[in-house]
Amino acid sequence: METEGSLTPYPLPETCCGVELSWKEGQRISYRFKRANCSSCSTFYEQNLGSTQLYVKKLGDDCFKHEGCGEDISSITVSHSVHMKEFGLAGTGEVLPEEFPFCPKHEERPSEYGSPVYYGPVVFRDGAIDANESQAIVDETGRVIRSGLA
Ligand SMILES: [Zn+2]
Ligand SMILES: [Zn+2]
Repeated sequence: METEGSLTPYPLPETCCGVELSWKEGQRISYRFKRANCSSCSTFYEQNLGSTQLYVKKLGDDCFKHEGCGEDISSITVSHSVHMKEFGLAGTGEVLPEEFPFCPKHEERPSEYGSPVYYGPVVFRDGAIDANESQAIVDETGRVIRSGLA
C-alpha cells in the first residue's frame, strides 16, 4: 500500500468502550475522510484519507489530536478557484474556501491553492439564464460541491 511521505497508515479502531464503531466516508471539496464516534464515551474519530492518519477528539478536548503523537491538529484554509467551463475555463475571481486539517509535526502542510472547481452548465429558462440552477459548483468529476440553491 502506498503512503505519503514516511507516514504509515494508522489502523482504524473497530470498537471503542466495547461498542462497535460505524465508519462513514465523507468528502468536503478535496478533503476526504472517514468518521466514527463512540456512543458510550463520545470520542470522535476521523481518518484523513489523504494521509491515512487518525485524528481523535475525546470528550472535553477542544480540538482533534493526532493519534499516536498527541499533537493538536491544525487546519489551513485551502482556496479553490471557481472557473466557467463554458467560457474557455475563464476564472470568475470567486474562490471556495475549504478547511483542511493536518498534524503540524508529522504531516505536510497542505497547499493553500486547491484544485479548480467549476460552475455547472448554464441553464436557460424562458430565454434567460436561470441564476439558481446555473450556480451549482462541481469538481472535475462532476460531483456537486455546492448546489445552485445554496
Ligand atoms: Zn468509547
Ligand atoms: Zn503528529
